[in-house]
Amino acid sequence: MDFGIRGKWAVVCGASKGLGYGCAEALAGEGVNLVINARTGAALEEAATRLRAKGVTVHAVACDIATEAGRKAVLAAAPQVDILVNNAGGPPPGDFRTFTREDWLKAIDAKMLTPIELIKATLDPMIERKWGRIVNITSSAVKAPIDILALSNGARSGLTGFVAGAARKVAVHNVTINNLLPGMFYTDRLKNNFITQAKNANTDVAAAEKARLSTIPAGRFGTAEEFGQMCAYMCSSQASYFTGQNVLIDGGAYPGTF
Ligand code: NAP
Repeated sequence: MDFGIRGKWAVVCGASKGLGYGCAEALAGEGVNLVINARTGAALEEAATRLRAKGVTVHAVACDIATEAGRKAVLAAAPQVDILVNNAGGPPPGDFRTFTREDWLKAIDAKMLTPIELIKATLDPMIERKWGRIVNITSSAVKAPIDILALSNGARSGLTGFVAGAARKVAVHNVTINNLLPGMFYTDRLKNNFITQAKNANTDVAAAEKARLSTIPAGRFGTAEEFGQMCAYMCSSQASYFTGQNVLIDGGAYPGTF
């Protein structure tokens, strides 16, 4: 299927590796030009080189997307933003009793206010052009909270509520806003979580991985490639009637009917 987005411009944040890179790669495969972002310049440049090999134009902007200066630099690198993929690292795990007000403000700033600022900056030109696609990478924790991820559960739910309202305001202009909720994908973040879990449980990393695998009906962790392909569909021309949704992609791990 041709997704009808060849030649459009996408900003993909947090895209040097992991799920963000998976989204950038799938969009590049559809002929979408990219502005990609991450904080570490060398890894970002390597990612940009791999993406350019797909025949699209790629601008790499190394900065912290949770800062105002970072967001300005990223947006300035795109001739126009047809597609916005909001993403960055997740907040740290821990017992909620140990989190300070500062920890909460940082998580809310990064996981709620940063995507909202980027949506605010890109939405009106999308409305004028009568075409726009926004995908926020959130987490399965929005649907089924994870006890050690209080900062993520809370801050991402704030973004989810905002999107539910905003998406309905702009749907008439062929601008869609959706959230993509990863379950367990085998990225550096998940691998680091296993290292921490193994340390805390005084076991080895393979045992920690095996324990988590047993909770996934698909019997495997997800890949960044398949995550990116779902994102690319959500950004396609065909997906114009698909908005305000929270799409869980988790190998069946969430046990509910809906
Ligand atoms: P990852 O493999 O660690 O990749 C994160 C990417 O974001 C990297 O490119 C990283 O590069 C960049 N990044 C991090 N903080 C940034 C910032 N402040 N500004 C700009 N770029 C930043 O993580 P992932 O597994 O792809 O996860 C992506 C998101 O999905 C996270 O929010 C995570 O919590 C969420 N999630 C993941 C899973 C999973 O199973 N993987 C499950 C649920 C939710 P630099 O470090 O160089 O900036």
